[in-house]
Amino acid sequence: MTSESLPRTAESPNDPVGVRDAVRAVPAYPFTPVDAPIKLDQNESPYDFPAELKALAAERMLARPWNRYPDLHADTLRERIAAFEGWNPEGVVVTPGSNVLIKLLTELAGIGQTVVTVSPTFSVYTLEAQLLGARLVQVPLGADFSLPVEGLKAALRENPPGVLYVTQPHAPTGFADPQAAVRELVEAAQGWVVVLDEAYHQFSGTDYRDLIRAGGNRIGLRTFSKAWGLAGVRLGYALSTPTLAAHVQKLVSAFNVGLLAQTALEVALEHPGYVEDRAREVVAERERVLAALGGHPVWRAHPSQANFFLLRTPDADAAYRHLLSHGIVVRRQDKLPGLQGCLRVSIGTPAENDVFLAAARDFR
Ligand SMILES: *Cc1c(COP(=O)(O)O)cnc(C)c1O
Repeated sequence: MTSESLPRTAESPNDPVGVRDAVRAVPAYPFTPVDAPIKLDQNESPYDFPAELKALAAERMLARPWNRYPDLHADTLRERIAAFEGWNPEGVVVTPGSNVLIKLLTELAGIGQTVVTVSPTFSVYTLEAQLLGARLVQVPLGADFSLPVEGLKAALRENPPGVLYVTQPHAPTGFADPQAAVRELVEAAQGWVVVLDEAYHQFSGTDYRDLIRAGGNRIGLRTFSKAWGLAGVRLGYALSTPTLAAHVQKLVSAFNVGLLAQTALEVALEHPGYVEDRAREVVAERERVLAALGGHPVWRAHPSQANFFLLRTPDADAAYRHLLSHGIVVRRQDKLPGLQGCLRVSIGTPAENDVFLAAARDFR
């Protein structure tokens, strides 16, 4: 059989046949790396993992065998995380980044079922729902970026169950809802798997562990990529009941977390003091930058409880290019619903933030 006689399911003649329509329909992860001296586009820590801890991790790495598979489910690391979080180790699941957990949780409770989240939202929730062919229901955020609690409760009532994604503080807006709103929503989601993504909690001071602990269907997501300054190592974790964690763990590929990540994270968890100090600096810098932007003639910064904020501009492309001409790369968010003209700006070091503020003042 020649290729001419095959049924033409591909969108372009070069597109391989056999790929599921859901996968074809989804665009690649919307990120293009841009080289600029000041990187304020990925909400990373502007500071590397402390050099002395890196050295300690490297030393420990050298002493361990590289020819052997690591811990099957990274049990030592799970125990360290459990001790750090005051959690039952059997309720902890670790993966190379919490993005992997979002995929697994969509596999757990989204495939053939429903994924409910807000709009705009963290792109990975919707990307995975689409890739895995889940029914995706998005409810628009309030005008002030608050959770649309009534709208979400209606979506939970009107759709067959699945998984509900809630982010606190929210991404990409940085908004933290009143605790009562989050609790009301989570408590209304009986029969759903409720995921509370707390990727930025160190910058908001919010902590929903007690809410997670109180319900058998709830999962908290946390990551080492932001406040811990370890985005390059790739490690995130879920906190839930042992029963739910055991189901999630079945979906994790064997030997998922490599030796480097396990070792680096064990060291980080033995010396976690730097995280709080840095988070405190980021929060102070965030408030300084937001206050300084208060008097800007055309740009308006939205308040935030995270390590980034949204900057509303009359022309996102012009503002983006202006910042880039000053050596600063930020993230465009202006194509997202409700975010016309918006750029997302991460908080950098004090010196980087000064350069950003000078560039902002320079814009007419
Ligand atoms: C950055 C971020 C994460 C972390 O993803 P990792 O895969 O752990 O790096 C998770 N959720 C949200 C909303 C984020 O912004």
